[in-house]
Amino acid sequence: MEIRKVFLNEDETPRKWYNILADIRVNPPLGPDGKPVSPDALAPVFPMNLIEQEVSTERWIDIPEPVLDVLHIWRPSPLVRARNMEKALGTPAKIYFKNESLSPPGSHKPNTAVPQAYYNKVFGIERLTTETGAGQWGSALSFACSQFGIKCRVYMVRVSFDQKPYRKSMMEVWGGKCIASPSQETKAGRDALEKDPDTPGSLGIAISEAIETAVGDTSGKTRYSLGSVLNHVMLHQTIIGLEAQKQFKKIGEYPDIVIGCAGGGSNFAGLAFPFVHDKINGKEIEILPVEPAACPTLTRAPFVYDHGDTAGYTPLLAMHSLGHTFVPPPLHAGGLRYHGMAPAVSQLVAEGLATPKSVTQLEAYEAGMLLARTEGIIPAPETNHALACVVNEARKAKEEGKEKIIVFTWSGHGLLDLSAYDKFLSGTLSNFVLSDEEIAKSEEIFMNYPKPEFLKSR
Ligand SMILES: *Cc1c(COP(=O)(O)O)cnc(C)c1O
Repeated sequence: MEIRKVFLNEDETPRKWYNILADIRVNPPLGPDGKPVSPDALAPVFPMNLIEQEVSTERWIDIPEPVLDVLHIWRPSPLVRARNMEKALGTPAKIYFKNESLSPPGSHKPNTAVPQAYYNKVFGIERLTTETGAGQWGSALSFACSQFGIKCRVYMVRVSFDQKPYRKSMMEVWGGKCIASPSQETKAGRDALEKDPDTPGSLGIAISEAIETAVGDTSGKTRYSLGSVLNHVMLHQTIIGLEAQKQFKKIGEYPDIVIGCAGGGSNFAGLAFPFVHDKINGKEIEILPVEPAACPTLTRAPFVYDHGDTAGYTPLLAMHSLGHTFVPPPLHAGGLRYHGMAPAVSQLVAEGLATPKSVTQLEAYEAGMLLARTEGIIPAPETNHALACVVNEARKAKEEGKEKIIVFTWSGHGLLDLSAYDKFLSGTLSNFVLSDEEIAKSEEIFMNYPKPEFLKSR
């Protein structure tokens, strides 16, 4: 009998996260004066223990026991061999995935929501604020806050609030408060509503509302939380790849190709960074982040300094960016509609340690349908982008007659995204193509910012 799933016991869970900043150099975030921001400047927004993690260059960082306790609700996640899909494609490649859809909220996001809630709790914080687009992050943080007994307030982009009511229900079941953004509760929200009372909202406005609420609480007991992009988020997600390495060791195999979809970069980084560590130390391995052709940050946008949010509240980050006022087309993979990319992931691409790919929305859904009809799990629209790349690599292996080993992150299930599948099935889902002119126009916004230095880590 051939192996279908590789499990780890709870006592085999990695006890430390891997910090890639020990092995690569990144350009520092810059403040409004063009100088690197000091950790103290971030103190009203994040608790100091997380800020210390954000800037740490220590290679291995202990996972606290209370965090492991909560992660063990669903971790370690199985490493699954997609044998039915291999057969359907007739490929000699072996295809494995880390099933991150098994967490209570249904995605990889609780891997960082749980430690973030924990570190805030031990720092004496009583309430977290955040924004959410499609609702995956808001539901993950509500779940994590409920585990540690802290309050959670989520500003959800208006259009998703109206279109995806069940994500809001999940947040409320876990005790979180979900508010449509823009709201009347903040100055940023009121200003946006005054300009356009019927605005669908945007992640940029929602971030501004969440930060304003956190910083504006004079008791000092509220902080803000971000679900991707930052170094400490990438760090927490490395548990995915560290588990995968142990699982491959158990079966005496090692991957040739590592794949993950990339919105802000966290589920990709979570699987890939521990393998990047091996690559830096001499292993031959292809590392492929996959993004939508309609929001082509790594494949078409330059490596620059730009803001992380539309309003320009955040420090300047060195990353691949389409410009912080870029509004991506209304893709169904809401989690991939981000103008920038994690600085650590951008750095890997800048120095050639990772090779970005892009796929169209229809290619993504075709691959998602194939997986749903072979492996059974209905993938999140974001995950479909990784799947399309997996299908391409598996076909290439067939043409070349090579038994490649491929591993990817199954970042979430799509059970609350079924309306997009309806559209695909009825033939009304379409591709969005961005012209070079559109991209050049949105990039004017950072033309006068400082330029990052080209760093080579090896
Ligand atoms: C949020 C999300 C993503 C994209 O975010 P990353 O930080 O790039 O991982 C991908 N897949 C799912 C299911 C998500 O919820």
